[in-house]
Amino acid sequence: MKELCGFIREIRSKARYREKDPDLPARLWREDEIVDGKPAKALVVVLTTKGCSWNLCSMCGYFRDSLKTVSHANILKQIEFVISEYQGEKIIKIFTSGSFLDEKEIDFATQKKIIEQLSGLEELDIISIESRPEFVDLKKLKELIRIVHPKRLEVSLGLESANDKILRYSINKGFKFSDYVESARIIKKSGALLKTYILLKPLFLTEREAIGDCIESIKKIKNTTDTVSLNPTAVHRYTLVEYLWERGDYRPPWLWSVIEVLREGKRILGDRRIKCDITGGGEKRGAHNCGRCDRKILDAIKRFSLDQDLSHIENIYCDCIEEWRDILDLETFSIGSMVRMYESC
Ligand code: SF4
Ligand SMILES: [Zn+2]
Repeated sequence: MKELCGFIREIRSKARYREKDPDLPARLWREDEIVDGKPAKALVVVLTTKGCSWNLCSMCGYFRDSLKTVSHANILKQIEFVISEYQGEKIIKIFTSGSFLDEKEIDFATQKKIIEQLSGLEELDIISIESRPEFVDLKKLKELIRIVHPKRLEVSLGLESANDKILRYSINKGFKFSDYVESARIIKKSGALLKTYILLKPLFLTEREAIGDCIESIKKIKNTTDTVSLNPTAVHRYTLVEYLWERGDYRPPWLWSVIEVLREGKRILGDRRIKCDITGGGEKRGAHNCGRCDRKILDAIKRFSLDQDLSHIENIYCDCIEEWRDILDLETFSIGSMVRMYESC
């Protein structure tokens, strides 16, 4: 996989980074959420940090939100800004373009300060953070939970797939399913809530294989995770996915496939929540259908993600479902795309 990593690095080396102020988060927005079954508001923040230590996943373009020169003092300034924007939301989701728990991005003393400052917000109930599995440490997590108490901490792990071959050859994730299992065990033991991201349609899978992989992955984590967040692949700039998409060797998933996974995933997970936020939905770089039905289906997926009522995504119809069904029946694995990609390495 040395060649693949080298090729991804070469693609990334051409990237133009976004202009940033180190004292401000890369992005901030508000969205609807559900807390303990009730509608709630969430404040979502992407902090500007040095970025992901791994930075080699085939679909990930978040590195363009990072800034090599950012200091811990800058990050605390960003948190001051977040607090000034706070309007009584129940949840604050703190994303970085990598892992909150990675001390190369945010050292432990700064992690503690951030959690301490946010915990002082009276109406806040949950602080949600993300991490790769290798940065999850029981002692440190317990310390963060002690600070956040009586509010709650949610940790999200980007598993993407429970299949080690897909993790390695399609995503280049840099860890195995067993690494996720161990970190998930630690997160649960610490008392934090666990959310798991599953990726719909990594490279080199047919539409049918992609649906099957998500469903198999959900089955394997159903007793571990509190929430599943389904992420349909979007074509980020300066990624391997974009390289193959531009050559006609990749199409983002159909929205019908999203619905299929949500429906089956809900059946498997029972009371546990499955949700789906679609980046670039309805556009050619994101999950899309024929263009005529996309808006209607995206709205239905959003409603289902909030209240878990399957009736929103059942009995939806558009003619393009027949084309999707044909693709499920007829599409064969495109070995050509894989060969062309490896030959260019
Ligand atoms: S998906 Fe996550 S782990 Fe992979 S490169 Fe992006 S930030 Fe890093
Ligand atoms: Zn349609």
